[in-house]
Amino acid sequence: MTQVAIRRTATKPSSRSEAKSVPSAEIPRHVGVLIIGGGFAGLAAAIRLTKDGRRDFLVIERGSEVGGTWRDNTYPGAACDVPSHLYSYSFEPNPNWSRSFSPQWEIQDYLRRTAVKYDVLDKHLFDTEVTSAQWDDGAARWMIQTTRGAFTSDVLVSAIGALCEPALPDIEGIDTFQGEIFHSSRWNHASELRGKRVAIIGTGASAVQIGPAIADEVAHLDVYQRTAPWVMPRRDRAYSKPESLAYKHVPGLQWLARQAIYWGREVLVLGFAFQPKILLGAQRMAERHIQKQIEDDELRKAVTPNWQIGCKRILISNDWYPMLTKDHVELVTDGIAEVRENAIVTRDGTVREVDAIVVATGFHVTDSPGWEAIKGADGRSLGEVWRERGQQAYKGAAVAGFPNMLFVVGPNTGLGHSSMVYMIESHVNYLASALEEMDEHGLATFEVREDRQRDYNQNLQKSMKQTIWTTGGCASWYLDAHGNNTTLWPSFTFLFRRLTRTFDLAAYRTTARTDRSDAALTLVREEGVA
Ligand code: NAP
Repeated sequence: MTQVAIRRTATKPSSRSEAKSVPSAEIPRHVGVLIIGGGFAGLAAAIRLTKDGRRDFLVIERGSEVGGTWRDNTYPGAACDVPSHLYSYSFEPNPNWSRSFSPQWEIQDYLRRTAVKYDVLDKHLFDTEVTSAQWDDGAARWMIQTTRGAFTSDVLVSAIGALCEPALPDIEGIDTFQGEIFHSSRWNHASELRGKRVAIIGTGASAVQIGPAIADEVAHLDVYQRTAPWVMPRRDRAYSKPESLAYKHVPGLQWLARQAIYWGREVLVLGFAFQPKILLGAQRMAERHIQKQIEDDELRKAVTPNWQIGCKRILISNDWYPMLTKDHVELVTDGIAEVRENAIVTRDGTVREVDAIVVATGFHVTDSPGWEAIKGADGRSLGEVWRERGQQAYKGAAVAGFPNMLFVVGPNTGLGHSSMVYMIESHVNYLASALEEMDEHGLATFEVREDRQRDYNQNLQKSMKQTIWTTGGCASWYLDAHGNNTTLWPSFTFLFRRLTRTFDLAAYRTTARTDRSDAALTLVREEGVA
């Protein structure tokens, strides 16, 4: 079997971001906090540290500007499927969203402006990749190697995110394809699809946006569907000028809109996490969406999933099904057997000639190659540790064996129903609280206790058993190689907010600085402080 290589297309850089980042002469080689990743999570952490008066930090980002997944996913039709009044920072409401579900460029622009406004770009090192991060127990520091030299830090923050490493299909002959081929998150804007025969592999959240956006330009479109997704109507609309003005000038109005969206979505947790039967109403609605938009019985059958709604991410689109009914669009449900120089061959032997292939096959979520680079106290990488027992952390934030390291959204913090920005801000609270505790107690190190991590995850996996993600009869990227859901938070998000409000020192082993004024320090082992 062969694999297609990842094509890294240049992202469109922002003049504002490029204008400012750490000046080369002033790059600090040791910082209090080193944050890996400058997406929604890394930026939130940088802003919070700045607000708390901590300027001894650095954000290392491999892209050329802030934005993470919103910088990388520039494919045609890219937009958020969570309303923007909720999918934005609580401390930075934006009255000027153009519509309820904002397009990618608008979110990216929002992130750029926010980074400028909160004056954190001079703490970012762009176009720099972390190649390894190793905990040094003797020095009580992280030793970080990057493509721009070595750094050390007291605390390491992983704000890498789950949807950043493209997963490429392992299909026979795919690397022999002679036409254009690229992953949805690495869209090649130099490639001209107009008038071409194009194939999309995958029918997930990315594909349902890409297909309708390119269908009318291309000569022919083959959509390769392995598993039919549930698709609901997209209740999207443009905001009028008076609405935007009202959001800007009427105190509390935007906050109210945010609250209404938040609680409207939070109710869905009852169905996802506690009583899946509640979601059957949504499934009927999705079935009606198919009936309304597709007349052909064969096609209706082909797009109707055989698993319960909610088990995988629920997609929203008003133009996916109409696109599939077009004469020049074919839904291919037979599996792909091989790719040739100019064609895709399905298992039934049909050869479909194609000029370009869009690979919309998702991301490495539970097996990210990024985890191999981070090595804990015993020299083993996160990848090795997590391959053994599945990815897990205490409160999604801390991993035993990896002292002084916190995630801003790690394992079991993902959501299928609401805004990840809410989870990010919860974890940023936890990080800020951890740093306060370190200062207050004069701590050199903290490391979550193995038993606390184990108990936490046992309880979490117990709750997971009754969720739709386990009982809904599908295989999804939420599950890891052990069959456990190690990606989603199985409850109400306000409970996660409460859980991460303060750093609970009792769950950690700590060491104190013997001489608080000396950062090079001798360490005294303590058995917990709280
Ligand atoms: P995805 O949801 O993982 O979908 C990948 C698709 O590719 C699935 O249809 C999958 O089929 C198919 N696939 C995977 N490997 C394949 C293979 N070897 N051969 C044939 N088909 C294959 O990926 P995504 O669409 O990029 O979305 C990932 C996540 O990103 C979403 O769940 C969402 O959280 C986020 N996202 C959000 C937005 C938004 O807010 N609007 C947009 C895009 C993405 P199976 O179902 O059979 O596995």
